[in-house]
Amino acid sequence: MKRVGKGRTSYRTLAARNKAAIDAYNRHNLFVLSLMGALMMLIPIASAPYSTSKRSLLPVYIVLMVCILLLTVVSRVPSFERFTLIGLYVGFSVFFALAVYLSVFNSPHMRATILIGVFCIVPLAFIDNPLRMNLFIATWFVIHTALAYIYKRPFVLDDAINTLAFAIMGGFFGTITTKLRVRSYEDQRLLVIKGETDALTGLYNRHKLFETLAGKAREPLSGIMMIDIDHFKEYNDHYGHIVADEAMQHLASILKEVERRASITFYRYGGEEFVGLAYALTELELASHSEALRGSVESAEVGTPAFTISIGVAYCGDEANPSYQKVIKQADEAVFEAKRSGRNRVVMLRAL
Ligand code: GH3
Ligand code: MG
Ligand code: MG
Repeated sequence: MKRVGKGRTSYRTLAARNKAAIDAYNRHNLFVLSLMGALMMLIPIASAPYSTSKRSLLPVYIVLMVCILLLTVVSRVPSFERFTLIGLYVGFSVFFALAVYLSVFNSPHMRATILIGVFCIVPLAFIDNPLRMNLFIATWFVIHTALAYIYKRPFVLDDAINTLAFAIMGGFFGTITTKLRVRSYEDQRLLVIKGETDALTGLYNRHKLFETLAGKAREPLSGIMMIDIDHFKEYNDHYGHIVADEAMQHLASILKEVERRASITFYRYGGEEFVGLAYALTELELASHSEALRGSVESAEVGTPAFTISIGVAYCGDEANPSYQKVIKQADEAVFEAKRSGRNRVVMLRAL
């Protein structure tokens, strides 16, 4: 596993590696925030009978509420998923536009208030490239200041200073929060990888094997391969543990090579035992991959002193719902048979 240097990996790299988690977070926030935004429109709507400024804007608030509710509904549609960020930027642009309107046109005789809050909240509300988020905030600062300069001259300096201070603070805390969040997604991702990987061979571990078997298989399983190194105790005694460990790593690299060619995934099952889950293969294909694997281990010339493996294969491609415990047991029996009949061979059984 490649080590990730803390603090050195760029936002872009971390975001690319954790895209699924970030997308899910943004999607959830778009739904919740737009729903909250729509409900918040009820506040000025309810206060309309008591405030002339709110009453004059009643149609605007109602239209905005309907539009934002529409965004809430659309954000749940699966095909909208890839437009989540656009939805967020558009939604917050509406929010900014309303705050700017309130400051410049609705209350030109008062300092901006709502707008200050918007500058603080938006940078904390979702995850995107901090540079783009800060540019978005800066753009709205420029728009408001320009409009205030034209239509609200007596307050333009106060407003500019206040909104700039809060835009900077919002941008600063937003950037920090975004980076922290993305790093914590990365830590979680690495932890998951660590939990399912065998440290010596880099293959999936036994825990991942049973998790895979217990979960929904990606495709129908056609069989299970059980691999056991021959006379490995003697190999250890003869060459020592370090060389024997290297032999296992060498075997793992051959298994990974097979993974690239065939739809078989390998797991370290125990000490020097490995399990391969084969998908969408015929009985003949599974037999031929197993034989090829046995042969390439036997004839491997590079690296560690030579060794051989015995392979037991249980084919279950014809079964609609095979019991995996039974298939593993069957593969185990097949390995036992391979050992009994002389080792360095493949024995294939039909499961069940
Ligand atoms: P057989 O051909 O019958 O499989 O003989 P074997 O000696 O391989 O079988 P056995 O199960 O008796 O021994 C397995 C040996 O594998 C025991 C142990 O020394 C070695 N082994 C298991 N895990 C490791 C490991 O992580 N590193 C090293 N170096 N050796 C291991
Ligand atoms: Mg063994
Ligand atoms: Mg062995």
